[in-house]
Amino acid sequence: MAIPPIARVESDARLPEEVDVAVIGGGIAGIAAAYYLARAGRSVAVIEKGAVAAEQSSRNWGWCRVQNRDEREIPLMQRSLDLWEGLPAEIGADLGFRRDGLVYVTRSEAEMARWGKWVDMARGFQAHSRMLSAAEARAATPGNDGAWIGGVASPRDGMAEPFLAVPAIAEAARRAGATVHQRCAVRGLDVTGGRVSGVVTERGRVRAAQVLLAGGAWSAMMLRRHGVHLPQASIRSTVFLTRAAPAVTPGGVVTPDITISRRGNGGYIVAANNRGRIELTPAGIRQARAFWPTLRSRWKSVSFGVGTAFLRGPDAWAGTWSLDRPTMFERDDMRVLDPAPARGVEEPGLAQLARSWPALAGTKAEASWGGWIDSTPDAVPVIGPIDALPGLFVSTGYSGHGFGIGPGAGRLAADLLLGTPPIVDPAPFRIDRLVDGSPIREPGMI
Ligand SMILES: Cc1cc2nc3c(=O)[nH]c(=O)nc-3n(C[C@H](O)[C@H](O)[C@H](O)COP(=O)(O)OP(=O)(O)OC[C@H]3O[C@@H](n4cnc5c(N)ncnc54)[C@H](O)[C@@H]3O)c2cc1C
Repeated sequence: MAIPPIARVESDARLPEEVDVAVIGGGIAGIAAAYYLARAGRSVAVIEKGAVAAEQSSRNWGWCRVQNRDEREIPLMQRSLDLWEGLPAEIGADLGFRRDGLVYVTRSEAEMARWGKWVDMARGFQAHSRMLSAAEARAATPGNDGAWIGGVASPRDGMAEPFLAVPAIAEAARRAGATVHQRCAVRGLDVTGGRVSGVVTERGRVRAAQVLLAGGAWSAMMLRRHGVHLPQASIRSTVFLTRAAPAVTPGGVVTPDITISRRGNGGYIVAANNRGRIELTPAGIRQARAFWPTLRSRWKSVSFGVGTAFLRGPDAWAGTWSLDRPTMFERDDMRVLDPAPARGVEEPGLAQLARSWPALAGTKAEASWGGWIDSTPDAVPVIGPIDALPGLFVSTGYSGHGFGIGPGAGRLAADLLLGTPPIVDPAPFRIDRLVDGSPIREPGMI
């Protein structure tokens, strides 16, 4: 099975002719924004080409962390953790959110130095992370005999259940008045007199004075058709899920050999080889310069290759297209971007799991999947208006850590659309930082 076991969301039968806000994309960015917009009394339609959360928003580890975030994201992530904490009671649903803490351990002095610098910086934000000595690192990874020289722990971070959380927030958005339309691709924006006036979907037009593009890996392609440049490229990542196994951690652990996230049902999400794969694509070639600083800093954590992504998918060449005919968003193999998991991951992964924690020997894999992680050159998302097309806003480019920050990001996008005071300063998330020629800041750690 390549698609994670996501909870199903009901679609609304009738596509409205007009709404205040049309949201493109039913991942966490679009769904969380729709929830807060609907609660504020706006009429909202979420239009999703495949199924709610079927792309990145269910394929992730579920981590909700301040730890190792770029400084610009910390206030939004702290607000997001508060929202995660309150959401279950607010919407009456279990999102699997728990603050069980995250632990990173290492054998590398350089890594310790990087974490130390980050902890010093984050102290200014009252972050709870603290460095671990070698003995503390060992104590924080019971049952694992690694020769750690130290680590860092963030006891107030945690995780939510990726298969449940976004569908549950989508149902809450529907109860608040939003409508959700799945298997309904947006072919493009409707633009009247230089302003966005709605969207053109495969089932017809929806008029809207405001449109929020939260298309994950597909956002840059959609923007390009309408003359807006967003530097964005994707990395393929693979994880697998195990059956229930003995508890060796309540939360998440990163070691140099393996990353594990304990799920509510006792299984683990495992990433045994954290090297993401960058496939050669037209979008990648076009933007190689913008991404060069990021690539240089992450050289050892990626591999390169050529695959079908060159011809199909969000980073393929698309140019422009007609809104009157089926588009690539409607292709059967593109409704849900479902990259094949890397081959040969489960067996060595299970072997590594057993080497790392002998108590987990014999654990069985249940499923594995791949995910396209969309990234910006500085690994910080873009949340805000597109000045060249009044009425259009984007919330995208979450660069491998958009699940945890999702509720905060949804709330921030909603504030900007509503014109109410934003929960955090939105300036660091503006698109201008990536496209106005100013030097791009080096990315933070992921
Ligand atoms: C293996 C893996 C592990 C990760 N681990 C973590 C983690 O532990 N913590 C964390 O915070 N983040 C993690 N992430 C990243 C996180 O999953 C993403 O940053 C986040 O889910 C992005 O949400 P999104 O809503 O922007 O995009 P998506 O979830 O990809 O949603 C975008 C949606 O837009 C739809 N769409 C696109 N174009 C159109 C169109 N034209 N018409 C209609 N619909 C359209 C797509 O079908 C899709 O459903 C991980 C990601 C992966 C792949």
